Amino acid sequence: MIRAALVGSFVTFAMVVGDGERGAEAAPLAVTFPISIAVAVEDGTPAREDSWIANQIEDANELYAPTGVRFRWTLRREIPSAHAQIHTRADRDALAALVEKNVIDVFVVAALEDVDEPGRYRKGVAWTSKPTNKRFLILSGAAFRTVLAHELGHFFGNAHTVVPDNLMSYVRTGAQVFLDAAQVERVQSFAERFLASGRLADVGVSRRLP
Ligand SMILES: [Zn+2]
Repeated sequence: MIRAALVGSFVTFAMVVGDGERGAEAAPLAVTFPISIAVAVEDGTPAREDSWIANQIEDANELYAPTGVRFRWTLRREIPSAHAQIHTRADRDALAALVEKNVIDVFVVAALEDVDEPGRYRKGVAWTSKPTNKRFLILSGAAFRTVLAHELGHFFGNAHTVVPDNLMSYVRTGAQVFLDAAQVERVQSFAERFLASGRLADVGVSRRLP
């Protein structure tokens, strides 16, 4: 009985805090999260060139502008050719050993096969490895623009939608790609959760070189 009462009062407290925040029009979020890029290299050639990777991050920053969340490329590494062709769950899970601490890990690979539909190749995936439970993104060198932004959408808690040109949809008509209001809120709430738990830190804006 005591336990139930405590739980009940906690829930009440949480709801009051939540209502207060909504009513007070929370300050806009402004946070920059670090992205670590690991590029698979085969025969001396990276799966994609740095300018292509930079474009993917730039696209993400444009699309996430309404959220107040930005991304900054803070680390670039090359990883061996053994990781260039990702076919199986085991191939994906093997990347977990290479993740960095407190960043969003993105592995850029030459080929990324679907694990549920063998023979189908994917442009990207947000993957949680078993049994380590590490979450990271894999980007195929065949990805078109906005694929990294889409996978970041999953990383920040968003599922697929069928609304054309929504970032989380597979349907593109050529119109401007966007996140809707609920998705923006979800990204913000995940961002706040990542900050609170220490999973990610705000790395601020890039310092200007003299
Ligand atoms: Zn997806």
